[in-house]
Amino acid sequence: MEQILNIIGGGMAGSEAAWQAAQMGVRVVIHEMRPKVATFAHRTGNLAEMVCSNSFRSDDSEQNAVGLLHWEMGAADGIIMQIARAHRLPAGGALAVDRDTFAEDVTARILAHPLICVSYEEITELPTEGHWIIATGPLTSGSLAASIRTATGADALAFFDAIAPIVYAESVDMSVAWMQSRYDKGDTEEEQTAYMNCPMTKAQYEAFIDALLTAEKTEFHEGETAGYFDGCLPIEVMAERGRETLRFGPMKPVGLTNPHNPLKPYAVVQLRRDNKLGTLYNIVGFQTKMKYGAQISVFKMIPGLQDASFARLGGIHRNTFINSPTLLDDQMRLKSRPNIRFAGQITGVEGYVESSAMGLLAGRMAAAEILGRDLPPPPADTAMGALITHITGGAEAKTFQPMNVNFGLFPPIDAKGGRRGRKDRYKAYTDRAKEAFTAWLS
Ligand SMILES: Cc1cc2nc3c(=O)[nH]c(=O)nc-3n(C[C@H](O)[C@H](O)[C@H](O)COP(=O)(O)OP(=O)(O)OC[C@H]3O[C@@H](n4cnc5c(N)ncnc54)[C@H](O)[C@@H]3O)c2cc1C
Repeated sequence: MEQILNIIGGGMAGSEAAWQAAQMGVRVVIHEMRPKVATFAHRTGNLAEMVCSNSFRSDDSEQNAVGLLHWEMGAADGIIMQIARAHRLPAGGALAVDRDTFAEDVTARILAHPLICVSYEEITELPTEGHWIIATGPLTSGSLAASIRTATGADALAFFDAIAPIVYAESVDMSVAWMQSRYDKGDTEEEQTAYMNCPMTKAQYEAFIDALLTAEKTEFHEGETAGYFDGCLPIEVMAERGRETLRFGPMKPVGLTNPHNPLKPYAVVQLRRDNKLGTLYNIVGFQTKMKYGAQISVFKMIPGLQDASFARLGGIHRNTFINSPTLLDDQMRLKSRPNIRFAGQITGVEGYVESSAMGLLAGRMAAAEILGRDLPPPPADTAMGALITHITGGAEAKTFQPMNVNFGLFPPIDAKGGRRGRKDRYKAYTDRAKEAFTAWLS
């Protein structure tokens, strides 16, 4: 009997997954709740609606990891990229589109595909039988989210992200910062390199608090709950509660010895390793609603981070996502129920491009399984491979938060050849990725 692939959610990931599977010859049903059931952010009943910005970000496939992802999606016959390019608006190096004609065109192409049908309904329970991809995104409906939570455990599904900024390890000035776990906990090399510490004098701390209090902040989107949990208060809110709150919270200077200066620091900012490669570190407890420009100038005031490059900046959003590093295998299947795959933003990637890319992989993998073929994930030195490796095992499960694609997720390229300039290095990453992705596709 013909096996059908069911996809819940016809957003960026679900549309791309459906297209890929159907192009491989598999019949697909997309179950999409809009327009019958609305979300606070979507405005139409179209598939692949862009809920906020109309940009797919940088289109530079030589110097930018998102641009590289565009390239890989194009090489893999991705429908989102194909149609984005057809509806492109002038936007310098970015790929911006006319959001309405883009989504209308995706919808028309999907509906016209002979192997895809769209069923406009909300799915309220995690299905038990058949091949399924859950691609319901950051605004997964409440009943389905509750059912996922029952199947995976309460700790494995989050409704908000609380993203602390992430810096590239190589951009931290280690003549100021140092590696040490509080109270020297842990014997292994992995544990000893788990934290970097940046010391502050009293004057530096006071100036930092002033900057936090006056920095420009972002508001929650209309309809998003503005209440955040006490466990993940934005740092600027902690500072508002008292100038000393941070010094007795995430910036406490205890259990640490600065090897560069015998004077005890007044406060310490800690960075915690964010991936197994050790290329990325997040600033502990620094989730924030400051605007991106403000974050960069405020965080560069931290001694040791004056020249920091940020792999991603902080934020707090309404965002339903699962703890993929513990729940999913490298085929994006739920380990406890392998007939179900997850794709898109609910897997803990973030953004239109990353979500579509994870849809592309899930669609191909599900179709391959139905057709009785093996499809290994792309190698970790491609943009798609780096992302799927990160979410299904490369990220620290305990502190897992959504991630954009960035070169910090790729295996480092400079192991032998000595230091290169940034442009050269990024070009080397993208050249290596294109070669590996082309080989994977064939
Ligand atoms: C307020 C807001 C602003 C954002 N701004 C940006 C931005 O500026 N740039 C950017 O790159 N990303 C932004 N994002 C993230 C972006 O929306 C996602 O990265 C992307 O849309 C995720 O794709 P997806 O397919 O995983 O989810 P979506 O595109 O959201 O698609 C999920 C689909 O599932 C449907 N669905 C949900 N539950 C059910 C159910 N139970 N049954 C059936 N259907 C269901 C929804 O209606 C939706 O169509 C924003 C997100 C939000 C919430």
